[in-house]
Amino acid sequence: KGAGGWEGLGELGCDKSDATTDWQKKLTPEQFYATRKIGTEFGIYLNNTKPGVYHCVCFNAPLFSSEKKYDSGTAWASFSEACGTCGSDENSINILRRQENSSESTGKEVICKQCDAHLGHVFDYVPEPSGHRFCISSVALKFKPFISRLDYCNLLLAGLPRSHLSSLISVQNSAARIIHLARRFDHV
Ligand SMILES: [Zn+2]
Repeated sequence: KGAGGWEGLGELGCDKSDATTDWQKKLTPEQFYATRKIGTEFGIYLNNTKPGVYHCVCFNAPLFSSEKKYDSGTAWASFSEACGTCGSDENSINILRRQENSSESTGKEVICKQCDAHLGHVFDYVPEPSGHRFCISSVALKFKPFISRLDYCNLLLAGLPRSHLSSLISVQNSAARIIHLARRFDHV
């Protein structure tokens, strides 16, 4: 405050030192994007249509599936439901809704259940496709694309450690069988 030629502005009500997180609390996601112009931070996954899973960038908790991602017309990566949602039951998802200061227009803040990371907002009274719209910051997400069984085998056989692979990609339930087969194949 008051440094480098901005002296006095604080008293006039224009405080340039306001952190972006304050604006995120004050504005709707759409307003925030439109007025604060930090679209480059939020746009990484906005138009990503590849199949895979979006994980929390902090501790890798799976949050959203590409199957539930849709174009909401907003500047945020939007999802109709979180991973683990079963009907209207959200007990198994990795996301918590923060109630305070929420309204229909601002939505509720959503955070990662595992690490408290701020993820974005959820709007619970939108018409389509599920009645819920999760507007999520791309910067809070790490996308892990699904790959084919064949590609996964080939990567294992090429010598990429399994731990390294799992940090890059999401593999369906058959992964254990693939690894077993790949190891057998490797020892022939
Ligand atoms: Zn997290």
